[in-house]
Amino acid sequence: MERTFIIGGNWKMNGDRKSIDEIIKFLRAGSIPVNNEVVIGVPALYLDYVQQRKPKNVEIAAQNCYKAEKGAFTGEISPDMLKDLGVKWVILGHSERRNIFGETDDLIAEKTAHALEKGLKVILCIGETLDERETGQTNEVCFRQMKAVANKIKDWKNVVIAYEPVWAIGTGKTATPEQAQEVHDALRKWIAENIGKEVAESIRIQYGGSVTAANAKELARQKDIDGFLVGGASLKPEFVDIINSNA
Ligand code: PGA
Repeated sequence: MERTFIIGGNWKMNGDRKSIDEIIKFLRAGSIPVNNEVVIGVPALYLDYVQQRKPKNVEIAAQNCYKAEKGAFTGEISPDMLKDLGVKWVILGHSERRNIFGETDDLIAEKTAHALEKGLKVILCIGETLDERETGQTNEVCFRQMKAVANKIKDWKNVVIAYEPVWAIGTGKTATPEQAQEVHDALRKWIAENIGKEVAESIRIQYGGSVTAANAKELARQKDIDGFLVGGASLKPEFVDIINSNA
């Protein structure tokens, strides 16, 4: 089955209006293959600013949202608020949310369920730490993170999975194409057995972790890699090359 290649940018807590203007400029100048989808994860404060200026063929994502509609949750934003701004996507479960802010599998699953219920599309991040990889727990950890969400949602059509080994994020240590493909393949098999064959065939699995213009092409050739979630390089003009890496 043909799966639409999807490239995500994750700006994390970076950028100001001046540097965002530069990013918009190179995104506008670069070509985006018509068959590819591009979604950039913008700090909440700048979502509206980017929404007003982005090229038409680029969508924006929030980097987090809460699991409730509204109320006494100081500092949080809701899917309803994102929709009010015209935001269609949210990144959930990023390893920085899990590890720095202590988000549990269950909380991430609840957030995913609520975001989907509200009509948002979700980039759901999963992945193992270095210690977990070295002790042979890669699949077990990824499956556990998937299972928490599978317990709470039925419809996966608006979910993209981002497999991001934590040891590869921001370290310059990319997973080899073989390492990434091995986990993507294992994930698809797990999904076929635990969720359904059709979902396994159609769901897109991005790779994330030190993706650059230099390594993207080879990763993109792997059978089960359907795109990327790009941190550092999404702030630079080389992001356009990554967007075109499957061409
Ligand atoms: P990186 O980040 O590309 O800077 O490694 C990826 C991510 O955290 O999504």
